[in-house]
Amino acid sequence: MRRLTFVTALLLVVVALVSLPRAQAGRKVYISVDMEGISGVNGDDQTSAGQPEYGRARKLMAEDANAAIRGAFAGGATDVVVNDSHGSQRNLLPEDLDSRARLISHSFKRHGMMEGLDETFDSVLFIGYHAKASASRGLFAHTGSGVVRDLQINGKSVGEGGMNAALAAWYGVAVALVTGDDAAVEEVKGVAPGVTGVAVKRAINTRAVELLPLAESRRLIEAGAKSAVAGAKKPAPLRQGPYTVQMQFRDVTIPEVMSAFREMERPAPDTLSFRRDAMPEAYRLIRVLYRFINTN
Ligand SMILES: [Zn+2]
Repeated sequence: MRRLTFVTALLLVVVALVSLPRAQAGRKVYISVDMEGISGVNGDDQTSAGQPEYGRARKLMAEDANAAIRGAFAGGATDVVVNDSHGSQRNLLPEDLDSRARLISHSFKRHGMMEGLDETFDSVLFIGYHAKASASRGLFAHTGSGVVRDLQINGKSVGEGGMNAALAAWYGVAVALVTGDDAAVEEVKGVAPGVTGVAVKRAINTRAVELLPLAESRRLIEAGAKSAVAGAKKPAPLRQGPYTVQMQFRDVTIPEVMSAFREMERPAPDTLSFRRDAMPEAYRLIRVLYRFINTN
């Protein structure tokens, strides 16, 4: 009996010693916060400035972000960066945010929803995400902006979660948590194996949802972030270049303009295709195409 106790004590010391260096090294966590998949968000009069319900929605967005920040620190994070990833990307008010986190704000970013991510981060959390363009179900399903019908990277159709996961993989950062409606969670599970998913609402179709009670939703986000950050293992960088990108648009105007650039192939009137060796380069160009080309 005494011998057993001694062995148990020895084991505990060994476990403590093994886990010590990691805890001391600290964990850097990146949180990308979109709006459509935020707890309680349920209407398109909430998602951009000037709309009657927008003020409420940005507060709801801060609450989900704060739940994720609390969970991240409880899970061992020592440094947390939050990137406002929706629309103007100036939705989160610094005064509403947990004071331990830094905030990246404004949409004039080359890496959009993933601005500032690099190889120094251990894990990334996707908060408030939504399903991809043309998904049959999923609240406000779209990819990047309203102009995209489908985005494919190396032959695989992806949404924002998929393209952001590919960039995280390039830098060797684990996608540890996704929150949003159940369609978004399911989609990200398909591109980021091992990710923890928290569905804060059930998509009935692209407009109607069944919402979890807010308190429960935030409790689940906090608990999910805590266990995801604590359990995340930093992967080796996954670099699968050359990256072939194909974007199909809702109409032909962007392909018409962009086919002036020699590197752009136009396999169909509404489709552009291009190739880049590195995922960050591909990411930047995808963002230019859905965000910064004005054909009006
Ligand atoms: Zn989005």
